[in-house]
Amino acid sequence: AKAVDFTVFDDLESEVRVYCRKFPVVFHRAKGAELYAADGRMFIDFFCGAAALNYGHNNDFIKRRITEYLAADGLVQGLDMYTVAKRDFLTTFAETVLRPHDLDYKVQCCGPTGTDAVEAALKLACKVTGRRGVIAFSGAYHGLSRGSLAVTGERQLRRGGTGGYDVTFVPYEDGPGGPFDSVAYIDRLLTDPSSGVDLPAAVIVEPMQMRGGVYPASGDWLRRLRELTERYGVLLICDEIQVGCGRTGTYFCFEHARITPDIVTVAKSVGGYGLPMSLVLLRRELDIWEPGEHSGTFQGNQLAFVAATAACELWRQPKFRTDLAVAVRRLGRFGRELSTADFTVRGAGMALGIDLSDAGGPGRAARVQRLAFDNGLIVELCGRHEDVIKVLPPLNIDIPRLDRGLDVLRDALRTT
Ligand code: PMP
Repeated sequence: AKAVDFTVFDDLESEVRVYCRKFPVVFHRAKGAELYAADGRMFIDFFCGAAALNYGHNNDFIKRRITEYLAADGLVQGLDMYTVAKRDFLTTFAETVLRPHDLDYKVQCCGPTGTDAVEAALKLACKVTGRRGVIAFSGAYHGLSRGSLAVTGERQLRRGGTGGYDVTFVPYEDGPGGPFDSVAYIDRLLTDPSSGVDLPAAVIVEPMQMRGGVYPASGDWLRRLRELTERYGVLLICDEIQVGCGRTGTYFCFEHARITPDIVTVAKSVGGYGLPMSLVLLRRELDIWEPGEHSGTFQGNQLAFVAATAACELWRQPKFRTDLAVAVRRLGRFGRELSTADFTVRGAGMALGIDLSDAGGPGRAARVQRLAFDNGLIVELCGRHEDVIKVLPPLNIDIPRLDRGLDVLRDALRTT
């Protein structure tokens, strides 16, 4: 392969950049599940902008809405003023996502990043309860600002300092280290007057830990967590930033447990087209914010509202859902095939984690990722030791392309 020139980036861009180190190529165009490099190489994308592209790159249906809106000089920067784009989004989101599931949430439009939604959720929980403690789970990832980092487990990332909350970390369900009844453990911490843990404002949980290694929580565990938090008057925050917007087959991952969290954070794919947007969904009676108490210049990008409205419409199309069910079955079959070949596989819907911790470890995972890349497939690693291959194809990927990507991955696993 031709050597690619990265001089400009090496010279001008901060060393903090990360994904470009794993995928050393200069990308230029993208369509559906395919990414194209400036030199013409094509890659199948099983990373999807870190789960921000559930509907694929440059989705035609969404693109038409955005281009029509721009062509008509639709308002782009609207702060948090009343706009037609926001009204359409709120209406469509309520009709598509909230009402069908009896979710009576108010929608708080946050800044462009998931991190900002997490910050808002934590602040709100503390304001509502008058407490400053939070229970989070080992392996959790909620963001890198000091508040969201305080509830993020990764030691390496926490070195710069965390802030804002008194956080107690508890093992996740069946996380590394084996079965541990973390709900019973939290119960003990909160019952024991000498546990050293004050009654917290909230428990924050990813219904499926992604960065932590693709660990889906069981419905039973989530229901027990819901029951426990209710019993103690502690708010339950579900972080759906990575697993929401249809990734696990239902719009929200927590739906499978039939629970109603008090607060939900949403970002990434909610902006439909990879456009920046995040939301906090909060139970109506929790909406005690003072005007402007959590605000920001880019709180509500109108283009993202337009894209997000179109994404909701896509989500409710019967054909979208039947095609998704087919893709989910296909990915599930691949997972079972790997399980029979003695790989540890976890996941739900269109999210699969192939755990190599007992099958070659981080070194092999990195080799699989690199070989897949060399053969035209983008996959990311996750897990405590970067030893889990995370497979996140677009929800609407066509089956031949899905199969082609899975073939590359299978070959990479076989030959490393
Ligand atoms: N929570 C979860 C579960 C996430 O996966 C992420 C991003 N990977 C975040 C929060 C932070 O979102 P963002 O990167 O948009 O700030």
